[in-house]
Amino acid sequence: MGLETVPDPVPEPGGLTIRIAAAAICGTDMRIYKGLKTRGVRLPSVLGHEFAGVVEETGSGTPWRKGQRVALCPALACGTCRFCRSGASNICEGLTAYGYGLDGGFAEVVNVPRAFVEAGHVISQPDEMSFEQAALAEPLACVVNGQARMGLAPGSHVVVLGAGPIGLLHVMLAKARGAGRISVVQRSAARRQAALSMGADEALGPEEAGHLQVDAAIVAVGSADLANLAARITRPRGRINLFAGFPVGELPRFDLNAVHYGEHQVTGAFGLTFAQFREALALIASGEVPAGSLVTHRFPLGGAMEAIAAVEKGAPLKAVITP
Ligand SMILES: [Zn+2]
Ligand SMILES: [Zn+2]
Repeated sequence: MGLETVPDPVPEPGGLTIRIAAAAICGTDMRIYKGLKTRGVRLPSVLGHEFAGVVEETGSGTPWRKGQRVALCPALACGTCRFCRSGASNICEGLTAYGYGLDGGFAEVVNVPRAFVEAGHVISQPDEMSFEQAALAEPLACVVNGQARMGLAPGSHVVVLGAGPIGLLHVMLAKARGAGRISVVQRSAARRQAALSMGADEALGPEEAGHLQVDAAIVAVGSADLANLAARITRPRGRINLFAGFPVGELPRFDLNAVHYGEHQVTGAFGLTFAQFREALALIASGEVPAGSLVTHRFPLGGAMEAIAAVEKGAPLKAVITP
């Protein structure tokens, strides 16, 4: 992986280009970078699918003009497959996604094909919303999807296992949605502190959490140990969402009897629908989910490798590249 100078993309008729103002680094970028995510990944490609900026150039017939502030929903579903027709466009069979399918946001300028524009995926961004906030609509939309899959009832006691940026978004969203009590399980003391400051009622190390009896557990880091802990500390007929991706090529040990005897409902979660992206933007715009508070580190585009190294070490909560 490296930094290269390439010609600016030229928009196709009906399409446009966006000059990037903020592009956040996501766990998925790190998984692609380390070769842990391979499905649908085109090589070489420009990473980055959480970004926002201003319209740079417009192709003929585009209703946008240069300089407009925009967010982009970076996953486009086909609209016709059986999953799209049943409202599950996040698992569309013909998904086109930025950051590995299309060249992504770790760049100065990004190309947006006509299909994205026509589908409404370019969304005007209110002036009061920062570019960083808009860039975080994508991960929040994935979190909205995860909690929708799980079906979190108001008043529930929920535990979030893993307090990285995704886990913290789960905390914020669960709080906004009226969870009764939010526990967080996280090894690092600094991140436990972050979880408390972002709305968790308690934050425990994995070895301190065995006494919990929660209604719902969200596994927000791809660790089989934490998935097993989730199964143990969820009450009978509780809900478990395996939100995080787990390492490819490993078949972890999982306590199937905990699910069997506990009659748990276990769900997975992948990606986001366009409706969830708009919902996430609205939750951020209204302040209900203060996603911007996750950004702890900012790097220029020339510092992209440094940014990725910092994320790999686990230093920042959310790192943003601001070309
Ligand atoms: Zn992401
Ligand atoms: Zn589809």
